[in-house]
Amino acid sequence: MNAVIPAPAQATVPVAGGGVFPVRRIYCVGRNYVEHAQEMGFTGREPPFFFMKPADAVVAVAEGETGVIDYPSLTQNLHHEIELVVAIGAGGRDIAAADAFKHIYGYAVGLDMTRRDLQGEMKKQGRPWCIGKGFDQSAPIGPIHAASASGELSRGAITLAVNGQPRQAGDLSQLIWKVGEIIEHLSRAWVLAPGDLIFTGTPAGVAAVLAGDVMLGAIEGLGSLRVAVR
Ligand code: MN
Repeated sequence: MNAVIPAPAQATVPVAGGGVFPVRRIYCVGRNYVEHAQEMGFTGREPPFFFMKPADAVVAVAEGETGVIDYPSLTQNLHHEIELVVAIGAGGRDIAAADAFKHIYGYAVGLDMTRRDLQGEMKKQGRPWCIGKGFDQSAPIGPIHAASASGELSRGAITLAVNGQPRQAGDLSQLIWKVGEIIEHLSRAWVLAPGDLIFTGTPAGVAAVLAGDVMLGAIEGLGSLRVAVR
């Protein structure tokens, strides 16, 4: 390739036990736990909807390490959203929910960081959410755990604490749209491919973080994700 500018770096996420997962796209599901949908002012019965983050919004955090993100520009209300992340290993279109597990390489703990004030302003004006959701360093993520080892992940505690104080708590069994159903819906709208990550939504308790705060997220079976804001 005769690139006329320096080629962009490939975003990657470490895999527990060795290797890296190259990231192609990041899809996110909105409002996928009833209590969080309610705290955002909705009933929780709407069909699933999606937004995206750029692949290079990933901040990969190795096991046992503390990731660091900079407090982003333009916001005064940076929110944490702890989420189960699904890593696609085999692509496809029109994937049935019952076949979805075959397409999953693994799972990780992720944070869908959100400039809530900007997202709210865009919502009010009927404009795209990009500036509220798809900003630099908005997708911290821990190591990917192979699904071949864990099996299908459909229940287990998902929690987030800030400076040791509990903020978010839920269970993967409370997902309104299950992982298989998410993949079914997504793969009708886009052709999924190896390297795609899917953030599956956050439980109730979203709130603001400030520079100096340390977030500790965890999902049963996937370990923890520690991220400091500076
Ligand atoms: Mn989210």
